[in-house]
Amino acid sequence: METEKTCKCGYKIDDYLVERKSFYSKFGWFLYGIGISAKPIKVIYQCKECGTIFKEITEEKELRKFVGR
Ligand SMILES: [Zn+2]
Repeated sequence: METEKTCKCGYKIDDYLVERKSFYSKFGWFLYGIGISAKPIKVIYQCKECGTIFKEITEEKELRKFVGR
């Protein structure tokens, strides 16, 4: 179980102001550009207001869940 983190504005990871950002490798972008879903190399959840990063996912098996999202 993870403890619920809040940023300094008081938002939690599932709040609407917290956005998920996926980072792709160059090859990933290329695939994305031609309409193929690529697996990101990193996914972060970040507050749009203060920039606090709630979660950073870099694990291979976790990243697979974000293919095409
Ligand atoms: Zn915040």
